[in-house]
Amino acid sequence: MLKICVVGLSGRMGHSLFDCCQGLEGLKIVSGVAKNDTPMPVGFNGDVVENVNALKEAPDIFIDFSRPDCSLTVLDYAKAHNCRVVLGTTGFDEDGKSKIVSTSHSVPIVFAANFSVGVNVSLALIKRTAAIMQDADLEIYEAHHRYKVDAPSGTALAMGEAAAEARGVNLKDVMVEGRHGITGVRKYGTIGFSSVRGGDVVGEHKAMFLSDGERVVIEHVATSRATFARGALRAAEWLSQKKPGLYTMNEVLGLDKL
Ligand code: NAD
Repeated sequence: MLKICVVGLSGRMGHSLFDCCQGLEGLKIVSGVAKNDTPMPVGFNGDVVENVNALKEAPDIFIDFSRPDCSLTVLDYAKAHNCRVVLGTTGFDEDGKSKIVSTSHSVPIVFAANFSVGVNVSLALIKRTAAIMQDADLEIYEAHHRYKVDAPSGTALAMGEAAAEARGVNLKDVMVEGRHGITGVRKYGTIGFSSVRGGDVVGEHKAMFLSDGERVVIEHVATSRATFARGALRAAEWLSQKKPGLYTMNEVLGLDKL
């Protein structure tokens, strides 16, 4: 039995993970880390702490959908207590990303901006399309619910990174965000981002490859958070057999072998 601690258990993703875990054999949520801000899932009676260092028992694996400051303390704990980490939190700065990489030298980690199977298939398609349609203008659009605190979404950035990698450039050098006023004509090779926030939108992403005379649009629409939760649980099972390292959903789903 794989003992799981959900970091962010009282959050939207925490609730979804709890629901999706019900009835699964071989996986059990035994503890949670969360602020005392929103209610815990009904029926959960395990250990819940606000600071990971207060856990009564170290889990086999953390599934973390919280905030970067909280996730960084979880990485330290995982390293000290030999736990694995499925990391879904978004919005890390460069220092945070470096810490994830350095921790993965001693801890097996799956880190993904989006755990949905469909999004990861979309990422693979974007990578191929960007390489083949080298000259097409790429614009990435995303929409999320009114409570999302970071923009562009981690998934939109992952889409941009996949395309930039396929074109042999660094996303930071070609990224254009939030156009406003007299912007001038579009600069060749840039990747544009636009974000919409409102209502209860679970997550929509569109990568538009715009050429003269045609366009290719790769679109993904999530209709339920369960898609992310099921992907994270699949990653947790997969990770239980792995050595230390930083893995992506590409590897979990075998997309890297296609
Ligand atoms: P939410 O606001 O509903 O929940 C956040 C949870 O984290 C809450 O339980 C809160 O108590 C806890 N938390 C926050 N700061 C904390 C701290 N300092 N100490 C302890 N607990 C803390 O958010 P959500 O919609 O569930 O999303 C959580 C994160 O997951 C976000 O970064 C979001 O972008 C990301 N997300 C990723 C995916 C993916 O597939 N990778 C999918 C959905 C959401």
